[in-house]
Amino acid sequence: MEALVCVEPGSLRVERRPVPRPRPGEVLVRPRRIGVCGTDYHIFEGKHPFVEYPRIMGHELAVEVVEAPTGTGVEVGRFFAVNPYLSCGSCIACRRGKPNCCVAISVLGVHQDGGMSELLAVPAANLISVDGLTLDQAATVEFLAIGAHAVRRGAVTPLDRVLVVGAGPIGLGVALFANLSGAAVAIIDRESERADYTASLVGGTAFTTDDLPHLGSFTGGDGFDVVFDATGSSRAMEQGFDHVAHGGRYVLVSVVRESISFMDPDFHRKELTLLGSRNATAEDFDRVVAAIRDGSAPADRLVTHRTDLERAVFDIPRWASEKSGLIKAMVTIG
Ligand SMILES: [Zn+2]
Ligand SMILES: [Zn+2]
Repeated sequence: MEALVCVEPGSLRVERRPVPRPRPGEVLVRPRRIGVCGTDYHIFEGKHPFVEYPRIMGHELAVEVVEAPTGTGVEVGRFFAVNPYLSCGSCIACRRGKPNCCVAISVLGVHQDGGMSELLAVPAANLISVDGLTLDQAATVEFLAIGAHAVRRGAVTPLDRVLVVGAGPIGLGVALFANLSGAAVAIIDRESERADYTASLVGGTAFTTDDLPHLGSFTGGDGFDVVFDATGSSRAMEQGFDHVAHGGRYVLVSVVRESISFMDPDFHRKELTLLGSRNATAEDFDRVVAAIRDGSAPADRLVTHRTDLERAVFDIPRWASEKSGLIKAMVTIG
């Protein structure tokens, strides 16, 4: 089979690889759509902390089952999305129903080879039913599930006024599910175009970072009940504390490789609740599928760029350096 391999940082190549052999409990699938994500660009650029090269990237998957051993209960020919977070099932997080932060987590396309290839073996338990969704829609489920999970962590209610800092694909997913939870949503980004576009897609009011006085008036000076950071910037993460209301919650969705700090008197004065949000669970995936199915998540409008395995060798490096107008690029196979 052919696979798109990130040989080392900055180098992509289509290679012939042996067909993977499913282990017990696994099925063989043909990836049909693979969403390209910030993580993939980071792997390509050599900025990802957990990756060893060479690596087949791709964790935002819509797949077709081609081989399913009896006992897996999966029908050949059916389409699924994939939960790419492979967990151990026995660590403290798994025992507490939080496989998304498993001690020994292995993410397809990051810690082990992923879906930018003609065939892939995945645990049957990680297949997500997507009946009624198109392949494109199914391939958006994973990145939207990150947002759904963050909103569940933040326990957003219709009474809340929510601020999403960072209007990229992850911020978009957060804003979408905050909005679907009934909250009033403000979205802020350095680039007004990106903030406007995200707000128009998912519902919400757009602000730019030059616009802070107006942002304050959104809550009548109260501050926000829940603030989500989706910037990938330690400076923005530190500044986000200032936007949280007294008694409010601050959810850090994006990850940086450095320390962040805050003033303890401010933190205590407000009695803030600080939450990390990592990956997503089956419950979040199901929530996203339901939202796409009933039309409340505009999954079709998120796919802005397309490529295939061969052309991705040139397209991914290009998109890594100039993301303007890009929300979600999709690799198509077959
Ligand atoms: Zn992703
Ligand atoms: Zn575990």
